[in-house]
This record gives sequence, structure tokens and C-alpha cells, in this order.
Amino acid sequence: MRELAAPAPGRCACAAGRSRGGDAVPQDGPPGPPAGPGASMLSAPQRIAHLIVGGGLAGLYAAYRLEQQGHRDTVLLEARPALGGRILSEPVDGLPERLDLGPTWYWPDLQWRLDQLVRALGLAPFEQHERGDMLLERTPHAPPMRTPAYLSAPTGLRLPGGMRSLTDALRARLGCTRILTGHSVQGLRREDAGVTVAALDAEGRTLHWRAEKVLLALPPRLAMARLDFAPALPDALARAWRDTPTWMAPHAKYVAVYARPFWREAGLSGEARSACGPLGEIHDASGPGGAAALFGFVGLPAATRQRLGEDALRLHCRAQLGRIFGPPAAEPLQEFWKDWAQDPLTAVPQDLQAPAGHHAAAPPQQPAEGPWQGRLAGIGSEWSPQFPGYLAGAVEAVERACG
Ligand SMILES: Cc1cc2nc3c(=O)[nH]c(=O)nc-3n(C[C@H](O)[C@H](O)[C@H](O)COP(=O)(O)OP(=O)(O)OC[C@H]3O[C@@H](n4cnc5c(N)ncnc54)[C@H](O)[C@@H]3O)c2cc1C
Repeated sequence: MRELAAPAPGRCACAAGRSRGGDAVPQDGPPGPPAGPGASMLSAPQRIAHLIVGGGLAGLYAAYRLEQQGHRDTVLLEARPALGGRILSEPVDGLPERLDLGPTWYWPDLQWRLDQLVRALGLAPFEQHERGDMLLERTPHAPPMRTPAYLSAPTGLRLPGGMRSLTDALRARLGCTRILTGHSVQGLRREDAGVTVAALDAEGRTLHWRAEKVLLALPPRLAMARLDFAPALPDALARAWRDTPTWMAPHAKYVAVYARPFWREAGLSGEARSACGPLGEIHDASGPGGAAALFGFVGLPAATRQRLGEDALRLHCRAQLGRIFGPPAAEPLQEFWKDWAQDPLTAVPQDLQAPAGHHAAAPPQQPAEGPWQGRLAGIGSEWSPQFPGYLAGAVEAVERACG
């Protein structure tokens, strides 16, 4: 495999086209008069070599690889107002720190390509805190059992500033990729000259691009649910993409921030398991920038969470942390909640029936025949054969499709 070299920010010859400040680049739409809300642009679609759908890790890494290979005309369209996708790191009040509501760890012993990327981007990962005893809650009516913690092998690493530091670092190194946030791709039409892509912007205008190749940097199931393909994809491929669950889409995460990591002072690792809930699995989420925090995966099914509502669940989470770690844990200074099952840019209704903890085998990345062959490739993490659904999977899927 090729060595990763992190180009200096702005090295790209066409860096002048790069956005300043925000992610959106207003001049990137096809030329022509502005259209009113809901109107379609009548001007000819802008011709480009690569169009990337999705600005999570896979989309940003694909843009980075393409620039490294000398490609100069890539457009990346992201439906959300911000980049990152399932990577979501929220700022802590008064500290230069962010805490993860999406992915937290990667495992360098197994996922060495991702580790190489992290280090080439100048990031300094640190080990998950696991020293101290862990607690097991069997019933809310008795104190939790205390037991010596086991240290994970292989070790999980985190990033200072949260996983968002990874996508921020990739974004900072992009020179000429045109990135448009708030642009939701609606459909792809295969035509003689390539693929015409239609996207809806935040003002309700439909914009078009004509790309030689489209890279789908979103979960396969979401691509099938949100994008119209004309002509339709081959049946077997469409079925395989639709049947691939999106990793962690059914889950929700809760983070509580404190003035100090008081559990560490009591010889606890911050790790806990609970048969009572709502949090099933709890970990220390403290960062090197001074934030003391605990986070937990919510153990209740998505439908139950929806019925109970966020406010009630936060209340139960605080009460549970108080039961397990003592009264100070019931009074966080700040808390965060993210229910991924409620996010239509990650989850579709089918994901909610996926068995928890199940990594599905990767579906084929590209059509092997027909009009879409050579024009379309899936590069979201679920398309990775080795690490489907993981951050490292996004890296693998991109390298398989883009070189
Ligand atoms: C709670 C949680 C915990 C996790 N923990 C870990 C962990 O510890 N370690 C690990 O390795 N992995 C973990 N993961 C998985 C990891 O987050 C993903 O593997 C990775 O972020 C996927 O990146 P991606 O770019 O392939 O997809 P995504 O991050 O899902 O990006 C897809 C992007 O496409 C955009 N999009 C969707 N539809 C459209 C459209 N029509 N037009 C334009 N854009 C569109 C979305 O808004 C999104 O930004 C976790 C995930 C979650 C949710």
C-alpha cells in the first residue's frame, strides 16, 4: 500500500477556490441565474471528475486521497450543516475540550492504516482510561458490585479534542475540493457523459452536477433510502445495499461532565455495566484538556427511548450515575445526549430492527455490470470487508475504491 503523506494545508494548485471560514462555498453551484425556492436550475450542469456524496470520515478521506493523486475537480456534497457525519464531538463549557457522542475509539494494533493516517495528520492519540475497579449494577435496590477491572486488549485509543479532530485535520488539508454543506443529494441519473447528480440546497433550490464518477460516502442502506437511481441499480446489488444495517444507527449516547474525576480518586476506573439501565455500559470519557466526564450507551431500544423522551431519559441517566458512582455523579455540570436512531441522516426505520452489536458483512462496493459499472462506488465504512462499520472501515473502503 502507498505511504500516506500529509500535504501542507493549501498545497493544492487551485487552493484559491477553497472556502474561508465556513464549509459552504457559494460559488460552487452551476452557472446561471439564481432560481426561486423549489425551482430547478435550468443552466447546464457543471462538469467534474468526481462527486462525493457525504462529508463524514469516508467523504473527507476520499477527497484527501484524490487530491494526493493530483485530482483537481472534486465536489463534496454534505446534507447536514456541518461535516463529520457520525463523528460528533461537542465542546465542553470553559475548556479547550470536546467529548464524543459518536465514535470514541480506534484500535491501532488491528487498524494500522487508520493509525498511520492519524499520525500523518499530526494527531497525538491517548489511551482510554481503564485503571481502577469497575462496578456492576444488578439491581437499583442494592449497591453495585466492585470488581477489578480488566484492561482491554488491544488497547483503544482516543483523540484529544474528540474524533472530530480527525475530520477537522483532513478538512484543513484539503486545497481544491469544493465542499458544500447543507446540500442534500436527491438523485443520480446515468447519462452518456457520466452521472448527473441533483442536490437540494438549504434554500430549496435544486442544483446539478455532471460527474465522471460518483463516490457514495454514506451508509449503503441510507443511500438506497434517500437517493433515486435512474436507471435502477442491478437488483442483487440494490438488495445487498438495502439489507446492510448501519453500524450503531440504533444507538444513543449520554455524556455527563463534572468538575473533577472523583471516581478515579476512589480507585474506580469509571467503567460500569448495568442490568438496570437506562445506561448499559459506562466508561470514563475524561479528556487530556481537563474535562472530567463519564459516558454511557443507552441500553433501551430505540422505540422505548422515543416513547419516554429525552428529558425523562436524562433524568434517569443522572439518577443511575448517582446510584453507581455516588451522589456527586447525579449532578453533572453539563450533559449531552444524542439519539442516532432519530437522525434521518444516519438511520432508516429498518436499522432499528438490526440486532445490537452486529457488524454485517460488507456488500459489493461497485456494480459489476450494466450502465453504472465504473461510474459509482460505495466508500462509507459499511462497505469495508475488514472493518465494516468502523472508522477504520471508512479508510479501507476509500482506499479500495480510490487507490
Ligand atoms: C454512537 C456511535 C459510536 C460509535 N463508536 C465507534 C467507535 O468507538 N469506533 C469506531 O471505529 N467506530 C464507531 N462508530 C462508527 C463510526 O462512527 C462510523 O464507522 C464512521 O463515522 C462512518 O463514517 P462514514 O463517513 O462512512 O459515514 P457517516 O459518518 O455516516 O457519513 C455519511 C455522511 O453522509 C451524509 N449524507 C447522508 N445522506 C446524504 C445525502 N442525501 N446527501 C448528502 N449527504 C448525505 C450524512 O449527513 C453524513 O455526514 C460509532 C458510531 C456511532 C453512531
